[in-house]
Amino acid sequence: PFDVLVVGGGPAGAAAAVYAARKGIRTGVASERFGGQVLDTMSIENFISVPHTEGPRMAAQLEQHVREYDVDIMDLQRAEQLIPAGADGLVELKLENGASLKSKAVILATGARWRQMNVPGENEYRNKGLAYCPHCDGPLFKGKHVAVIGGGNSGVEAAIDLAGIVAHVTLIEFDASLRADQVLQRKLRSLPNVTVLTSAQTTEVLGDGAKVTGLVYRDRVGGDSHRVVLDGVFVQIGLLPNTEWLKGTVDLSPRGEIMIDDRGQTSVPGVFAAGDCTTVPYKQIVVAMGEGSKAALAAFDHLIRTSAP
Ligand code: FAD
Repeated sequence: PFDVLVVGGGPAGAAAAVYAARKGIRTGVASERFGGQVLDTMSIENFISVPHTEGPRMAAQLEQHVREYDVDIMDLQRAEQLIPAGADGLVELKLENGASLKSKAVILATGARWRQMNVPGENEYRNKGLAYCPHCDGPLFKGKHVAVIGGGNSGVEAAIDLAGIVAHVTLIEFDASLRADQVLQRKLRSLPNVTVLTSAQTTEVLGDGAKVTGLVYRDRVGGDSHRVVLDGVFVQIGLLPNTEWLKGTVDLSPRGEIMIDDRGQTSVPGVFAAGDCTTVPYKQIVVAMGEGSKAALAAFDHLIRTSAP
């Protein structure tokens, strides 16, 4: 069996694997797609001490760093069931391919995915003006016109954040009213360069083949369609943690995030979690790496307290 088995090969999983392996313990990483969300990212400018890099490059470096150590990397492996430790003290992980792995400690780092609008143009213009993360891509739209889709807390926070950088923000909400906290809505309405559209359903992202040029929305009251000319579109309709397979085994928040304490411990003994799949606020690469390192150190602590001498 493994001493530490990491599930997920994004920034959190890679950091956890490096920290665990450096303790000289038997470490494995099972991941569906090593690199995680970083593989889908174009430019990364907020990974501190690296002023600029690109997603695929960082993903390759994550893997290279893990391979410096004696880590068993099992790529293209989807976990589908976690079985808490029984009398043998080993947590079991069942994979989609039928195999089963056992480990004294497990670190869940399965990340998350942005909910998509599923409208024409969304996939085509992803990273070409269509973005999901204002902290990541906001500065690329300095002085430009952008829309934020979604009037919940994250959409309204994104609009307030972007309004300080870009020339103008159009916030588009499907429902008749915004769902964000009142204090955020008040702040939003006080900003001179924000327009709020409610009962508006985005139906298409427009572009010139190379980049976003606008969007089309349908007025859900009048029924007619309108065009907005834009340089960028930020989609903020939800971040879905990849934790469906853990329901009923590990305590999840109402949003499906794995509940952890400040050491990454979950509700199941010997099972830790880190990064975007957890309740940790602010989903970012540097945050995920810090969390992965913490969870590995906490898992090591758990091992030295529970393993026979
Ligand atoms: P992820 O990166 O999501 O990795 C999860 C891993 O788990 C993957 O290997 C996945 O294949 C695996 N996995 C999932 N389910 C299973 C399963 N059942 N079994 C086995 N493996 C599984 N952040 C920044 O800091 N700066 C940026 O510029 C930036 N830009 C971004 C741009 C885009 C387009 C996107 C989508 C995100 C961006 N982010 C950025 C956010 C950043 O990528 C995430 O916060 C970070 O990758 C989270 O790391 P993670 O390891 O927790 O999860």
